[in-house]
Amino acid sequence: METHRELEQALKRIHRRGYPAYKEIRGEYRFPFYTLSIDHVQGDPFASPSRLSLRLTGQQAAFPRELYETPCRRIALQDELIRRFAAGAQKESFRVKGSGHSGLIATSRCTQQVVERTACRIDPRTGEVLFRLEMGFPASGRSVDGEGLRRMLLDQLPALVKASLLYNKEKDGSRFASLAQMADDRQYIRDHLAERGLCAFVANGSILPRASGVSDRPMEGAVPFFSPPEMEVCFALPHRGEIRGMGIKKGVTLIVGGGYHGKSTLLRALEDGVYDHIGGDGREFVITDPSAVKIRAEDGRSVWHTDISLFIRDLPTGRSTRCFTTRNASGSTSQAANVVEAMEGGARVLLMDEDTSATNFLYRDELMQRVVSPGQEPIIPFLQRVRELYEKWGVSTILAAGSSGSFFHVAHQVVQMDRYMPRDITARAKEEAARFTLGLVPAPEGKAPESRRAPRPFAPFRGERVKVRAMGREAVTVGKEEIDLRQVEQVIDGEQCAALGYALLYAHRKLLDGRCTLQGAAYQVEKIMDEQGTEGLCQGSLPFLARPRLAEVLACLSRLREMDR
Ligand code: ADP
Ligand code: MG
Repeated sequence: METHRELEQALKRIHRRGYPAYKEIRGEYRFPFYTLSIDHVQGDPFASPSRLSLRLTGQQAAFPRELYETPCRRIALQDELIRRFAAGAQKESFRVKGSGHSGLIATSRCTQQVVERTACRIDPRTGEVLFRLEMGFPASGRSVDGEGLRRMLLDQLPALVKASLLYNKEKDGSRFASLAQMADDRQYIRDHLAERGLCAFVANGSILPRASGVSDRPMEGAVPFFSPPEMEVCFALPHRGEIRGMGIKKGVTLIVGGGYHGKSTLLRALEDGVYDHIGGDGREFVITDPSAVKIRAEDGRSVWHTDISLFIRDLPTGRSTRCFTTRNASGSTSQAANVVEAMEGGARVLLMDEDTSATNFLYRDELMQRVVSPGQEPIIPFLQRVRELYEKWGVSTILAAGSSGSFFHVAHQVVQMDRYMPRDITARAKEEAARFTLGLVPAPEGKAPESRRAPRPFAPFRGERVKVRAMGREAVTVGKEEIDLRQVEQVIDGEQCAALGYALLYAHRKLLDGRCTLQGAAYQVEKIMDEQGTEGLCQGSLPFLARPRLAEVLACLSRLREMDR
């Protein structure tokens, strides 16, 4: 390994040579308080920036062990280090000028969520910090600006590392300690939800609405959330002490209310409650069962070998729905497939909004049942399965619905959103419902879905160089295949999308062999990420990735359109 002085010499040597001469400085260099590794050098000033990583030993970084010894604390600390570095890098970026990306210094772009990202990894045993960043190696015209890169690597970077990646007790010891405590408190609620009979908790004082449809920051001047007295629960947190808020019990929960009264906003907060959030977000203590999955209609999606017979039987085409395949699902078949997929992934809670559901999937009224006989209707509406899902398989549902009263009959609890304030109207809703018979034809008993989805590896993914590219949080392309993730609503950003692409590629290269099911592959991907981090899914110089949940991995694996080719 060479020293930073030798790096300085090398930069002098290649100064003003053709841009490809930068390739010569790939390698590792020892700096006073870290090791710098130049992993990938961009081919020209306009190509994606060069990739670098920093390694700080436990002694160099000097974070006290208690800040990273449990997974939740480690993830919170890693997240904080990325944010610190990113904030500093933004100020330092482009001080060195030139064409293309010259002068850029950047790392992962964090969202409001606190998730594991490949940008920073702390070894829980040794405290070693591995940090990844990218830099636009500067060019003057088409040639190397060695002096510019010297400033970036030998002046700017060491200052950034010092300010953001080293533990300084006097300066921010208390900030780090409070982050760790917050992580413990959130984790405490998550760990105790199930045993308290809950599938979600929304703390009093939470701010649920977001600033706008395109911003995930909290809305200013929003009405804070307060639990109805009947639903209030209290957790005694290890650091913060008592916290009160609305506890949503397991079972079937209905969120009703007039249009624009905040139903969807509450549901969206619950969807996002599977993730942790940074301080100041407003949803710090909105905690949902981590397996909860948003279910929606997704017409046009492809479905492959999925048993949707719980909801759909006897299609007019005569095709069996115990092993249903289509390249273009309807609203109701797509929503049915989404439920089955969620159950395969071990979801204990389904989150649904009437706004994004297929109406005929949710319910059918009495008059329609009389006119169109059950023999002609392939759909058994969700209304007739929702209790069964809970009673037989322990799968709870939280449904936001403004227009169908039929669900009052099957709900265990009913919350009304009234000018953004929740009220428990269970008793009154039940009373009214008792006077109002539904007159539904009973549905035949359901069998647990039995999917035998064991695809063979997709041949085009076998080759040497298959590129994975996220298109924002909307889709990911793997080789020539595009996986549409727009309707997989709990994906947080492009880095998670990219990770899903790598998971798909990994599954097709290493796991799927015609015997392993998609479900089995998703669980194995999860195991790799537990053991090696998301980095375990790819080789070579590593992009910025955010760790996805098992549910989204399975969703991505299930949406490869060409699986049946
Ligand atoms: P619904 O689903 O009941 O029709 P939404 O949840 O879509 O209603 O909310 C309607 C509007 O009210 C949205 O623009 C949302 O941002 C805003 N809103 C929701 N909750 C609050 C709140 N607590 N304070 C202020 N505005 C809110
Ligand atoms: Mg709505």
